[in-house]
Amino acid sequence: MNAAVVSNIAYLVAAVLFIAGLKGLSHPRSAVRGNLMGAVGMLLAIVVTLLQQGIMSFELILLGMLAGALVGAVFALKIQMTAMPQLVGLFNGFGGIASVLVAGAVLYQAVMAMSATAAGAAAGTGGVATVAGAPDLQFTIATAFSGLIGAVTFFGSVIAFGKLQGIVTEKPVRYPGEQVVKVLVLLVTIAFGVMVVLDPAQISNYWYLSAAGSLLGVLLVIAIGGADMPIVIALLNSYSGLAAAATGFVLSNNILIIAGSLVGASGIILTQIMCKAMNRSLANVLFGGVGAVVESAAQGDIYAGKVKSTSAEEVAMILKSAQRVVFVPGYGMAVARAQTPVRLLTELMEKDGIEVEFGIHPVAGRMPGHMNVLLAEENISYDKLREMDQINATFSNTDVTIVLGANDVVNPIAREASGSPISGMPILDVDKSRTVVVIKRSLGAGFAGIPNPLFAAENTLMLFADGKKAMDDLVAAYKDA
Ligand code: NDP
Repeated sequence: MNAAVVSNIAYLVAAVLFIAGLKGLSHPRSAVRGNLMGAVGMLLAIVVTLLQQGIMSFELILLGMLAGALVGAVFALKIQMTAMPQLVGLFNGFGGIASVLVAGAVLYQAVMAMSATAAGAAAGTGGVATVAGAPDLQFTIATAFSGLIGAVTFFGSVIAFGKLQGIVTEKPVRYPGEQVVKVLVLLVTIAFGVMVVLDPAQISNYWYLSAAGSLLGVLLVIAIGGADMPIVIALLNSYSGLAAAATGFVLSNNILIIAGSLVGASGIILTQIMCKAMNRSLANVLFGGVGAVVESAAQGDIYAGKVKSTSAEEVAMILKSAQRVVFVPGYGMAVARAQTPVRLLTELMEKDGIEVEFGIHPVAGRMPGHMNVLLAEENISYDKLREMDQINATFSNTDVTIVLGANDVVNPIAREASGSPISGMPILDVDKSRTVVVIKRSLGAGFAGIPNPLFAAENTLMLFADGKKAMDDLVAAYKDA
């Protein structure tokens, strides 16, 4: 068996591991195993690639790996859990720029080889300066795609990072003739792409293509509001996969084509799931320009004289007489790191025979699965975690719902068809429970920047405090009650 066959078999094994790993990631119970399978698949793919390719310098690769590991470790240690979406966004961008640079470098190498052949032929020393020496169509098309999608991904991701980090305005940047400008830039980018394919020897065309793609990435993302960034990041994740797959064709590397396609496909599925959770169409997210953080003038009217505050002791008494309690965690639980007392209170209530469940909104927190990760850290059983559709049917039989640091995902304004950034977004129907206890520090708005009539509802009690402090107090009060 020759080396190419062995490496292709190893790549096949790696691909199977990737697919089985992705399958594992679809359920919390098998997610750790899935992650491990994916990592083993990647290790296998890297080792085989390093052995198979004519590596020029292992020292440089090692240096690159060390630098990458250092940057990754610093990010991982420094980053707050709440800033995870922008970190994921930035990492997508790194994937994009890697595709641009690798495809550019390979094109450069091919062009150099081509001119060397041409020079050889001209000097009569062998070599034929014909199309045989020129890069083929698959190579040039794949190179153009790598440059285009990679550049869009990198600059789009940088803008998404800036928006979520507050460096770039969260508001959609709109201007007259915006769609015309975008179409023009797209046409220019495609024109450079065609030039790369027709005349690969003109390497400058590739860099013009990348520059135009970069501008397109900026224009596409700058026009989208901060509240829609999670969807955009999922989409850019998909783009980074497509760019990697295109680079796989450039390098004729099968595993890169497979891994890139898997990332591209899973990214687009996640985009679809998030669009559904926020009740938006992808076209509306990309071109609608809504999702801006808006200040609402109606806040005073909504809350005036209607908000009832409560204490940990009072909530503990109410819980003691409850039969069914639902926790609805949100971004504030992540900020306060309040999941440990949540588990303690759950255990205490269950000892008293109270049924406890968790209602998880698909976009609660700041990244998909954010709440699941935090609750899993506490070994809270997956069986208690209910998705929105399942839990919504049960709120009318729920004695107490504790909304811990959630706001937008329980905001009844979303039920209105239009007029707010979250209009039409499906929410957790916590207001249907007998009593709702909302734990947060103030009447302050959530991510969408709008007031929440739930806080002023007849059956709502507000426990104003930091989430961790409130939950610690509640555990102590429950023990004493
Ligand atoms: P929200 O952002 O709507 O609200 C969070 C609330 O937590 C705030 O109103 C804040 O109120 C409260 N809070 C903040 N810190 C604390 C603290 N230390 N203790 C107690 N409460 C605190 O969160 P939701 O989870 O309800 O909704 C998520 C929002 O984020 C949605 O709009 C979603 O579209 C968006 N989004 C989702 C992403 C995802 O992938 N899941 C990614 C990015 C955005 P106060 O200041 O009064 O304490």
